[in-house]
Parts: sequence; structure tokens; C-alpha cells
Amino acid sequence: MQTEVKKKNMIVAIADLAKEFKVVPGVVYTVLHDLGLEHDGSNFEADDETVDLVKEGVVDQSDSKSITLQPGRTPRDLAVALDVAQPDIQKTLMMKMKVMATLTTALKDDVAEKVAQNYGYAIQWADAPKPRPTDRSSAGKKGGAQLRPPVVTIMGHVDHGKTSLLDYIRKANVASKEHGGITQHIGAYQVELPEGKITFLDTPGHAAFTAMRARGAQVTDIAILVVAADDGIMPQTREAIQHIKNANVPMIVAVNKIDKPDANPDRVLQQLTEFEVIPEAYGGQTMCVPVSAHTGEGVKDLLEGILLQAEVMELKADPKGELQGSVIEAKLEKGRGPVATILVQEGTLKIGDSVVAGTAYGRIKAMTDYTGEKLAEAGPSTPVEILGLSEVPQAGDQVEWAPDERSAREVATKRVDADRAKNLVVVSRGMTLSELRKKLDTEELKELNLVIKADVQGSVEAVRGMLEKVKNEEVETKIILSGVGSITESDILLASAANAIVVGFNVKPEGKAKQEAERHKVEIRTYTIIYELIEDIEAAVKGMLEPKFEEQYLGSVDIRIRFQFGRKGVIAGCYVTDGKVIRNALCRVRRGKDIIYDGKVASLKHLKDDVREVTMGMECGVTFEGWEGFAEGDTIEAFEMIQVNA
Ligand code: GDP
Repeated sequence: MQTEVKKKNMIVAIADLAKEFKVVPGVVYTVLHDLGLEHDGSNFEADDETVDLVKEGVVDQSDSKSITLQPGRTPRDLAVALDVAQPDIQKTLMMKMKVMATLTTALKDDVAEKVAQNYGYAIQWADAPKPRPTDRSSAGKKGGAQLRPPVVTIMGHVDHGKTSLLDYIRKANVASKEHGGITQHIGAYQVELPEGKITFLDTPGHAAFTAMRARGAQVTDIAILVVAADDGIMPQTREAIQHIKNANVPMIVAVNKIDKPDANPDRVLQQLTEFEVIPEAYGGQTMCVPVSAHTGEGVKDLLEGILLQAEVMELKADPKGELQGSVIEAKLEKGRGPVATILVQEGTLKIGDSVVAGTAYGRIKAMTDYTGEKLAEAGPSTPVEILGLSEVPQAGDQVEWAPDERSAREVATKRVDADRAKNLVVVSRGMTLSELRKKLDTEELKELNLVIKADVQGSVEAVRGMLEKVKNEEVETKIILSGVGSITESDILLASAANAIVVGFNVKPEGKAKQEAERHKVEIRTYTIIYELIEDIEAAVKGMLEPKFEEQYLGSVDIRIRFQFGRKGVIAGCYVTDGKVIRNALCRVRRGKDIIYDGKVASLKHLKDDVREVTMGMECGVTFEGWEGFAEGDTIEAFEMIQVNA
């Protein structure tokens, strides 16, 4: 896969090549298109080897009577492709098709086809982005999904040895390679073992992991949880466990620093069980490997464990399929412009390809791996650093292939517009307490997701304990993360991904977290009094309940007389014998034991006035909604429905 680009690219004039092989330039376009190479209408750029491939293609195609064009071409484009004088095309349009067109008018596809026919050619339309053969020697053959290397992220508490472990693995497995093991940090690297390759993401911490997830990119196949054997499970270890569980990614535990005299790996295993991570040694599913990032002990076992897990997962991708990738990290570099590390997930990325990454687009000018070696192409699970994008994309942005730079720019521009439109209507990825009611009315699942941060472990436990009890048969509070410390950007991203509310007890959000929360519309609630916190959450949970109503008795009324009231209708002259009756009250009218009406009081009068209520011992006039069948001696039972769980 890692073919070195031996020679510099050269620029070839399409017209010259066409002349050399006695074909119309359109035939060269066809070949370029088939090979997935870009051109600007006059020239294309490629290395020697590729130019030879183009020439071979042109020879093959020389008898072909079809040319490849993109839709929306102009008379000038047609003239070039068909190798005829520009005025001739205009003449043909006018005389044969009665179409008046300037040299730069975009022609309808059927019109262009007729023009081409006139010169004896059919047009093959090079349409929207489509998967194209990436292996030139087998162009046209359909590829299939093949096993691909697993993509691994390392997480864990600070100082437990994540960086050391990544460094050790990198050095031990890369140094032997011919390119001297000089690595550069591109946010990811790949190691090759006899049993297979592994791709490591070395973007530190779980911010990257969560950021990507919040942006919809799940790139990690397996998560390695590093726990120092001399320190055991610490707050960020617990957070990492929660992140990994939320992402539903298999976990392997690396119990690190076993070389230290006070290392106690068994204690770590025991502690893990408290977090429902059951080590294989205890009959569970989680592989736990004792390692030392210093001596290298156990690291080989860890790598083999990763490959074993990957084998079980049967991770596959099609190197010949449609390109799909994710941005791992990106930055602006002086003199180089936007630099992005991309993980290829499907298909193959090639130098010269036009791509869209989020709202960035461009043609890949240079592509290198983590050793700085130039690559001509990169298949699934390969991380590469690319140059040539129009702007710096964001981590987690999806990378897609485009047939040429122009279409890439179009797609990117549309995205920018869509983003703007979204910002105008304010997309809400997160959730606010007051929004819950509305959201849950339309959703089946009634779950209130919470991220809890507190000043000390004791408060975390207290808040957790109390909040876990705030639930009923319809709504459940689900604590997706709890930890010590201020509310960070990563908490917000997680909340955004999980539609959760962030609750802080005696802690405040960091500046960046606040901004992110505003951007993602995640609600942060901070408290200093624990029962206020609990009350609020209880209120929210109650708000999420299906409203429950119960009948509440208001009063009894006797109907004493039935009389005509002007033209408006019949009124029941009544006397309130118990309680009260109110306007709009629900009511049942009984005659003896039978209920003869079940409905609503339509109007209520005292003397001649409309009134809101009439109480016991008073007379009133009542009409009913859509019913006049009452008689003297009937009794009215008035009641209302009260929401009992409000
Ligand atoms: P990170 O914060 O998780 O990336 O941790 P680092 O990799 O920076 O390691 C923190 C400290 O622990 C450093 O001083 C390392 O040298 C040390 N360390 C890491 N792994 C080991 C190990 O396996 N054994 C010993 N003795 N020290 C280690």
C-alpha cells in the first residue's frame, strides 16, 4: 500500500496527447475519468507511470465513439472535446437544433448529446461522486469487503501511562522498518505485527473520542483502558469506563506499571468489578493484560489481544468501495496551509483526489503517513496526513470523494449554507429541562440523561445516590457520567452526544465548556445546595410523566324547574344541595339510579348574570352542552378532572 512517489508529477496537455494518438480530446477525458484523474479541460497532472496508463487507455479507446463529459458543459467545452472549431459548434446548434448559445452557455444534456452525435460521438456523462476503481490494474472489477486493521483508542487517568504506552508500542514496532522509525505526530499511527496491523489513535484524552462521537463519527473499534497498577482506578478511569460503555465499544484493560515495586494488579482487577467491568480472570468478558510501558513486558500480549478481539469482530471494509473517512485532527501550519490527519474507513484515498471534509474541500496535494513517508494511496484503517484542503476541518468531520475540485467545492459550499441556515434556526443537540416535556411527548423512551460533576468524590457519590432514586415506572434518570472536577468541554460534548443535562454541584463550567454548551445547546445547571438540585431534577422527572387525571367531586345540584329562556333554549332552574358547581364543570345527570347525561355544564347563571361558580344553598340556572333532555327532579353531580402527578 505504501508506494513511494518516485517521480515528480508532470503536466500533460490533453490536446497534445489527443493529437499524438489521433483521437478527439473527449476520448482522453474518458480515459482520465475512468482512471479517476482530474483535469481542468486543457491539462492534467500525473507522474510518469500514470501518464503511461493514460496513454494505454487512449490506445484502447481510440476506436471508441464515445466521449466523457460532465453535465452542464458549454459549446466551448464541446468544441474542445470533439476537436472542432468553436464557431462550428455554434453553427450546428443554430442550424440543426435552433439553439442560440454563446460559447459559455451551459447546454442541456440532451442538446449536448445531439451536437456530439452530429460529429459521430456518444456522450457518457460523468455524473455525481461515485465509487471509482482505485486499483488501476483492475479498473472496472468490483471489489469486496476485506478484513481491515482495528482502530484503537487509549484512554485512562492522567499519569497512568497512556503516552508512554503509545510511545513504547510505536518505537518497538516501527523502529525496525526501513524508514528509520522517525515518527512525526499526526494524531494516529499504525503498527505492523506478523499477525496483522493495528491503527492507534494517539489524540490524547477522551476529549477527542467524545468530540468525534458528538459529531457522529465513531472511528474507534476497540478502546484500551490504561490503569496504573500502583494507583488503581481513579476519577478519570471511571469517566473513561463510562465513555467507553456509552459508545458501546469493546474494552481491553492494560494494567500498566507492573514493573513498579508497589504495583498491585490484582487490586485493579478487583476494583474493575465494582464498575461492572468483569475481567476474564473472574469469569467475565473483559481482557485484562498486565503491562509495563517502561520495560515492555506484556505489551506484545496486549497487541495480540487487540488483534484477537479484532478477529472476533470481523472488521471489514472495501478498499475499492466509495471513499469514506474521518478527520482525526487538523491544524493550520505556516507555509503548509491546512493540514489534516484523516483516517480512511472505506475505499482508498489517492493523491490528486478531490475531497470534501465537512465544509472544507480541495485536491490532495500531498499525502504522508506518520513516519513522514509520502504515500500515493491509503486504504481502509490507514491514517494519513493530507495537504490541499481549503480550510481547517474539524475533528470528526466526514471525508468524501468528489469527481473533481469543482464539485467538491459545490458540496462544501452547500454545507456552509446549510450550516448557516441551521445556526439561524438554532439547532438543539442538547436538552434543557423545560424542553423535556415537549420532547418526551413525541418520544417513546422516557429517560433523563445526566452528566454529574462535583467538587469532591463524596459529593459525587451523594448526588449520584440521591438522583438514582429519582425515578418512577415511566421515567428513569440515567447517569451517563459522573466525576470530580469542573465541568469541561468533554463533559459538554458527551452531554450533547447523549442528549443529556449537565449538573454541577459546587463546581462551575470552564470557559470553553460554557461556549461549547451554548453552541450545542446543552443545559448546565449548577447548585450549591444538594436538595435544590434534587428538587429540580424531581420536578423535571415529574414533568416528564404522562399527565394523570383523577375525578374530583365538586357538588350536587337538584333540578327544580325546566323553563324556556327566550330563544336561546331551555334552562334547568336548580338548587345547589352540596358543595358547588362551576362553569365548564363536568357533570352527570341522574334520574333515579340511571345516568341520563354525561357531559359538561355549558352555562351557569345566578339570577340573570353569568357566573363562575355557585355554592351550596344557592339557586342557579344551568344549561348542558348539546343536551336538553332534563326534567324536574333530576340531580346533577358536578366534578372536574385534576392532574394528580403535576
Ligand atoms: P499519561 O498521562 O497517561 O499519558 O501518562 P504518561 O505516559 O505521561 O506517564 C506518566 C508517568 O508515569 C511518567 O513519568 C512515565 O514515565 C511513568 N510511567 C508510564 N508507564 C510506566 C511504566 O510502565 N512503569 C513505570 N515505572 N513508570 C511508567
